[in-house]
Amino acid sequence: MIIHLTDPSLVLLIGPSGSGKSTFAQRHFRSTQILSSDSCRAMVCDDENDQSATSDAFELLYLILAKRLARRLTTVVDATNVQSSSRTSLLTLAAACGVPCVAIVFQLPEEVCQRRNLQRATRHVPPEVIANQMAALSESEANFEREAFACVYRLTNEADADRLTIVCS
Ligand code: GDP
Ligand code: MG
Repeated sequence: MIIHLTDPSLVLLIGPSGSGKSTFAQRHFRSTQILSSDSCRAMVCDDENDQSATSDAFELLYLILAKRLARRLTTVVDATNVQSSSRTSLLTLAAACGVPCVAIVFQLPEEVCQRRNLQRATRHVPPEVIANQMAALSESEANFEREAFACVYRLTNEADADRLTIVCS
């Protein structure tokens, strides 16, 4: 699969925990281009798992994103983004800056996400959290085509991420 990005773009990674978003972002983008909700959580409270810091973390993420898009810099948002409402706020910000927004959806089978979650060295999300995120993703999945994405790319199996090339123009 080839993902075509115009520069600048806002790239939204969408998928449950364990679906491979952070690995994908680090493989294809510079660290300064990636805004991760986990990293923002760690920045505001020293613990990327502390859900009580989510609101502060997203405030920080949105602030940096707005500054970057105003400078017309391609930026990747590495957060689950499985709810339509979370995507809408990001799409609105991108539209206000005149930057196209591309979705990359990590639609892998639940057992892959659960297995990878357990294999992760640093942290394990409770399995029911992943199940809930999967449910939220499938519920809102049909909406993607109606949301204001310039393009929606879907990774549906483990090999897709390995076979993928990103072309920026
Ligand atoms: P995230 O929660 O969606 O950000 O998922 P991560 O990127 O943290 O990946 C979760 C786990 O799956 C990590 O241990 C990764 O090393 C592993 N992983 C991610 N992408 C791939 C992949 O394409 N192939 C394989 N085999 N493992 C992967
Ligand atoms: Mg991650």
